[in-house]
Amino acid sequence: STRPSAETILRAKQFSASNYLPLPIVVEEAGGVWVRDAEGNRYMDMLSAYSALNAGHRHPRIIAALKSQVDKVTLTSRAFHNEPFAALCERLSAYTGKPLSLLMNTGAEAVETAVKAARRWAYRSKGVPSGQAEIIVCEGNFHGRTLTATSCSSTADYRADFGPFTPGFLTVAYGDAAALEQAISPRTAAFLVEPIQGEAGIRIPPDNYLKEVRELCSKHNVLLIADEVQTGFGRTGARFACDHEEVVPDLYVLGKALGGGVLPISAVAGGTDILGLFEPGSHGSTFGGNPLACAVALAALDVTEEERLAERSLRLGEQLLIRLRNIRNPAIKDVRGRGLFIGMELHEPARPYCERLMALGLLCKETHKHTIRFAPPLIITEAELDYAASKVQEAFMPLDL
Ligand code: PMP
Repeated sequence: STRPSAETILRAKQFSASNYLPLPIVVEEAGGVWVRDAEGNRYMDMLSAYSALNAGHRHPRIIAALKSQVDKVTLTSRAFHNEPFAALCERLSAYTGKPLSLLMNTGAEAVETAVKAARRWAYRSKGVPSGQAEIIVCEGNFHGRTLTATSCSSTADYRADFGPFTPGFLTVAYGDAAALEQAISPRTAAFLVEPIQGEAGIRIPPDNYLKEVRELCSKHNVLLIADEVQTGFGRTGARFACDHEEVVPDLYVLGKALGGGVLPISAVAGGTDILGLFEPGSHGSTFGGNPLACAVALAALDVTEEERLAERSLRLGEQLLIRLRNIRNPAIKDVRGRGLFIGMELHEPARPYCERLMALGLLCKETHKHTIRFAPPLIITEAELDYAASKVQEAFMPLDL
């Protein structure tokens, strides 16, 4: 029994703390790139739950894995072993090229895990005096909403009246390798970076930045931590966004699409020299590595590889970028992206355009106020992408024509 959208929205506003500004649509059903609201209107999803839906909504293969595991066991905690956990850790090792993984639930938790790992490595392997490790982060970063992730942030809105913050973070300009080298000191444990900044508005660093950063980290014995929570698993047209520059970080921070758009699961993947410093008691999570999420993640990795989502993203992303760049409208300042991870920056607030796009049947979300993010599920077909591009074109048609 469906309730009218307006009523649902009112109740959400009445009973939920106001931490987001959702578009006024109540999603009731979804499949692939399509969603349906309570009134039966159909929309194309161009946000993919901030890149968690790379395989689309309710991918049959992923849903089948979920159902099959539901009938066996859903939660053991790590007090006991479970097979999907072992299988996923092994599979992640093959996928990332890193021998060890540590499974958590959300992206922010995985970031925190990486921070703990880097600090322990700094004290036990690099000889940084106890309690003095520093982690360098980038201006404009987004690593999540827990207090330590918020402590990394340079965005005033994210921090306002939430201090005191976790100490030990130093901020440098994004895309500026020289600034990183200047900031590195003997206390530096790690450089934590998004290979493309997502929440900051799809900010792509200059060519060779990641390569230079990799060299600097190696030269100064500093860990390179790539936060690929949003950019991983094919989103940018490669396995990881670091792959575009053939850069291998010391730690990958992974989340979102790893859960196949079904369940929360995140991971840190790295070498035994770093993650091998964890012992029983060092870290944990009741739900981290639960058999249900692991079974789903295994299926999500199958889909990612077998349906060649990275290659699709690269090819279709190039087509969409060309289409969007051909739109002539003085409100458009810049269109940029890698794969199906595209930002259209405007000279004015993006929200009214997102509302107009919604009225035309496309679900998009503004990021960083002036940028519209176009990040559809990677399983999108060429015909669907063509449809999306024509709708965007329509949304930017001067109204007086
Ligand atoms: N890191 C990056 C790069 C992200 O984009 C996000 C989420 N947008 C996070 C971390 C946090 O992930 P979660 O919301 O699952 O905590």
